[in-house]
Amino acid sequence: MNIAEWLAATARARPEAPALLTGFERDADYRTFARRAASLGAALARDHGISPGDRVALFAGNCTQYLECLYGIWWIGAVAIPINAKLHGREAAWICSNGGAGLAFVSSDTIGALIEARDDLPSGMKMLSVDSDDYGKMRGGEGPPSPLEREDDDLAWLFYTSGTTGRPKGVMISHGNLVAMSLCYMADVDHATPEDAALYAAPISHGAGLYNFPITRMGGRHVVPESGGFDPDEVLNLGRQLDNVVMFAAPTMVRRLVDAAKKRGENGEGLRTIIYGGGPMYLADIRDAIATMGQRFVQIYGQGESPMTITALSRDWHRRTEHPRYLERLTSVGTAQSVMRVRITDKDGNPLAAGETGEVEAKGAAVMLGYWNNPKANAETLKDGWLRTGDVGRLDEDGFLTLSDRSKDVIISGGTNIYPREVEEALLTHPDVREVSAIGVPDPDWGEIVVACVVLEKGAVADDGKLDAHCLASIARFKRPKRYVYLDALPKNNYGKVLKTSLREMMKKQEG
Ligand code: AMP
Repeated sequence: MNIAEWLAATARARPEAPALLTGFERDADYRTFARRAASLGAALARDHGISPGDRVALFAGNCTQYLECLYGIWWIGAVAIPINAKLHGREAAWICSNGGAGLAFVSSDTIGALIEARDDLPSGMKMLSVDSDDYGKMRGGEGPPSPLEREDDDLAWLFYTSGTTGRPKGVMISHGNLVAMSLCYMADVDHATPEDAALYAAPISHGAGLYNFPITRMGGRHVVPESGGFDPDEVLNLGRQLDNVVMFAAPTMVRRLVDAAKKRGENGEGLRTIIYGGGPMYLADIRDAIATMGQRFVQIYGQGESPMTITALSRDWHRRTEHPRYLERLTSVGTAQSVMRVRITDKDGNPLAAGETGEVEAKGAAVMLGYWNNPKANAETLKDGWLRTGDVGRLDEDGFLTLSDRSKDVIISGGTNIYPREVEEALLTHPDVREVSAIGVPDPDWGEIVVACVVLEKGAVADDGKLDAHCLASIARFKRPKRYVYLDALPKNNYGKVLKTSLREMMKKQEG
């Protein structure tokens, strides 16, 4: 089915329900939301020659028009390529070109960057600003009453992976993948209700936007903060006033939210569910978050190739403090989501037993169709339907998955594997350490040594001896960092993920 059917159905069942809001201000109810999508779709086909299966890019920051455009594209069976608005114009142009976009929706903030990179754009690609009068006309007309029929395997969303190395790859997400992901949301993550207010504090082009579907299905509110991004104070204010807020947040965002809540002496009232994931959440941080804000948290583990949907650690598991294995569970990413299976394999692809560490593989209805025009990457990543995630982890006998690292981040020192995560978890329990990332640096004696890149808390003084003693108290001697580097901030990509590659390059330059 076409995922846009959900918007059409909600517009029929709950036409007057508030659908799109900017801050507290209502932009559209469901009837208007669906009518605009239909009108946009009709105009794309009529005035811009977009046919079913054609790609349309979206290069804009968070705004309510973003959701209108997505559904407009799907209404006529076309394919959306959402591009992170923080990318460089040339990176965005490369994606438009690789995906063969026939048109790009842009905003007044991003159009300049794309015009500057026009030489890299696909020939004939049109640009249309969602802030323009033309856009107003485009969405103000009429369109087909129902979305075009699509099969489950038809392409809906071409998602370019953040690619910390090399060029990003286009992940082909089908309508069926999006339906499976959304049903898992309702089963494994949160019960969506018509009262919900989905708050887009993270980019709609990524996970936060993917989670619009269950909310659309139930007829909840979609709320874009006035700032268009993540401002912890704004989120806390919106939470209190909107109530029943659900939001996706990367672990770094959770930390900043917790800091703000502490400063204001608040606990995040009205933020019903904070879904975190996309990068490691350290035990010390989630415990601090629960202590400050209470039980509002659910964790998900997924990747572009199986969007938001590999495992989940439910709200219930965050609550079960009396369970003898509570802390172990809290360090895990939970169990396979309802449509998924998870296994661990060795380097030859053979399944490993519970407790053994290897590559995480996932199979099920959320797994992508494959990479766009990239048979080599498909062959490397998909085997008999199993997705090789590139993550390293272990399953316990009850099916809880604990991630150690990305496979390429594992440090091999003196022939032994050291998972940076363990070192990071240990250091983060020291009160002077605000953030840390452990990397492997080439060493003539050891092959690699562990180097800890540390951001200290305000006012704390760098002291290798103190941190070393702290590590010795909780992890094996051979795992502790041989060197400490103190930084003002860790390099992160646009989604807040720490760029270990940049740290490794920085160390290489220093050594050189
Ligand atoms: P992306 O494809 O950009 O969404 O990145 C996906 C990667 O982020 C995964 O392969 C993991 O390495 C990491 N990741 C996602 N969710 C989690 C999580 N809950 N805990 C730790 N790492 C995660």
